[in-house]
Amino acid sequence: MSTTTKRAYNFNAGPSALPLEVLQKAQAELVDFQGTGMSVMELSHRSATFEAVHNEAIANLRKLFAVPDNYEIVFLQGGASLQFSMIPMNFLTEGKRANYVLTGSWSEKALKEAKFSGEAVASVSTKENKYKNIPTEVEVGENDAYVHITSNNTIYGTQWKTFPETGNVPLIADMSSDIMSKPVDISKFGMIYAGAQKNLGPSGVTVAIIRKDLLESANTNLPTMLKYDTFVANNSLYNTPPTFGIYMLGEVLKWIEAQGGLEQVAKNNEAKAALIYDAIDNSNGFYYGHAEEGSRSLMNITFRVADEELEKQFLKEAEEAGFVGLSGHRSVGGCRASTYNAVPTEACQALADFMKAFQAKHQ
Ligand SMILES: *Cc1c(COP(=O)(O)O)cnc(C)c1O
Repeated sequence: MSTTTKRAYNFNAGPSALPLEVLQKAQAELVDFQGTGMSVMELSHRSATFEAVHNEAIANLRKLFAVPDNYEIVFLQGGASLQFSMIPMNFLTEGKRANYVLTGSWSEKALKEAKFSGEAVASVSTKENKYKNIPTEVEVGENDAYVHITSNNTIYGTQWKTFPETGNVPLIADMSSDIMSKPVDISKFGMIYAGAQKNLGPSGVTVAIIRKDLLESANTNLPTMLKYDTFVANNSLYNTPPTFGIYMLGEVLKWIEAQGGLEQVAKNNEAKAALIYDAIDNSNGFYYGHAEEGSRSLMNITFRVADEELEKQFLKEAEEAGFVGLSGHRSVGGCRASTYNAVPTEACQALADFMKAFQAKHQ
C-alpha cells in the first residue's frame, strides 16, 4: 500500500470495501482507457473496446467461479431487490408454488415480492429464534416451482455452510453478500444471483447465473426488461448496461485470481473472521455474538457489548479510532463487522486488537 494513501478500516455492509489495487488501476486508466483517449464511462457500449471488457468479465466469472456450460451468466440492473420480483415472474409457472426459506430480512422481502406473482409460502423460518440460526432441513413440496434461500444473511450474520438437497426442484440462492467468498458447487443450483456491491464491485450491477433448462420452461408473457431471456439472447447488451460497474467487476475478478482464486480467498476469509470471533469468544461474555456458533457468517460478524451503555461507548471510540461501518443494521442494532473479500486481514487484526484493548480499559 502506498504510504501516502489514507485508507479507512472499512467494515461497511454494502456498498463496501474494494481492493486498493483495483481502485488504483481504475484511477490510472480513468481518463484514457487503453489509448482510446476516453474513460470506460465514455465508451459506446456497442464499441469493440467495451465489448471486450464485458466479455472478459463474463468469461472470468465463469472460470473463477467454475460455472458449468449449462448455465448462462447475465448482468442485470435494479439490484438484488429487483430479482425478488423477476424470479417469481419468470419461474413461478402456472399451478406451481414458490417455496421460501426465511432466514432473515432479505428472505422476507423476497417472499413478499413473490406473492405478487402467485402462490408463495414460507415453508421454514427461523424467525422465532430471532434469526440466530440456519435451519438444518428444508421442506420441499413436489409441486414447488423452486426453493429460495438466502445463502448469507447480511443483517443477522448467519450463513449456510452446506446447501439443502431439493431433489428435482430447482434451488435458487440470493448470494448477494457471500458470492465468490469461497468455491461453491454451482450444479446444485437452478439459479444464483447477487448485487455486486458487497463482494464483486461497486453498486449498479447484479449478477445472475441461471441453469438453461429453467430458462427454457420460464414464463414468456412478460415485459421485455423483466424477462431473463432478453438478457440471455442479447449477451446482457439489450439496452445500455452499467458499463463502469461491469469494468470494475472485471477488475475485481482479476484481483480474485491474483489472490490465488477462490480456494485462497476462502482461507483468507476464514482467518479474518476467526480473528474477530476469537475476540468475542475469549472475552468472558464482555462481547457476545448474535448468531449461533454453527450458523456464523464469515462475511458479517454480528455482536453485542453485553453492557448497553458500554456498547454506545464502543461504537463511539471505534469510530474515533478510524473504524467505519461497525453499527449493526438499523433494524437490529448492536455491532456488525462486514469482512468481505476486499477487507484486508490487517483491518480485521486491528479491530480484534481494538476490541481487546477496549475490554481491558472498561471492564
Ligand atoms: C444487500 C442485499 C440485498 C439488496 O441488494 P440491493 O442490490 O440493494 O437490491 C439483497 N439480499 C442480500 C442478501 C443482501 O445482502
